[in-house]
Amino acid sequence: MLKNYMEIVVDDILPSVLKGEDLDCKCDKCLSDIKAIALNNLKPMYVATEKGILYIKLNQFSTQFKTDVVKQIIIAIKKVKEEPRH
Ligand SMILES: [Zn+2]
Repeated sequence: MLKNYMEIVVDDILPSVLKGEDLDCKCDKCLSDIKAIALNNLKPMYVATEKGILYIKLNQFSTQFKTDVVKQIIIAIKKVKEEPRH
């Protein structure tokens, strides 16, 4: 089964980024929107095996990589803040 590992990474980092942003609404709809926008702007990392996931885990948190993900999440939060869909 193919999995976009970037999804796991965004899930992992999102809560800590949200703490630093004053997002009015944190309902599932807004959080899904944030995730979707961020993931559309990040390169997907598809893995097919558990082994692949472990391999990427070891390499995921280079500073540059994390900075890029955080940056895209912040952009997504701003977008949703400006134009909430409900
Ligand atoms: Zn909401």
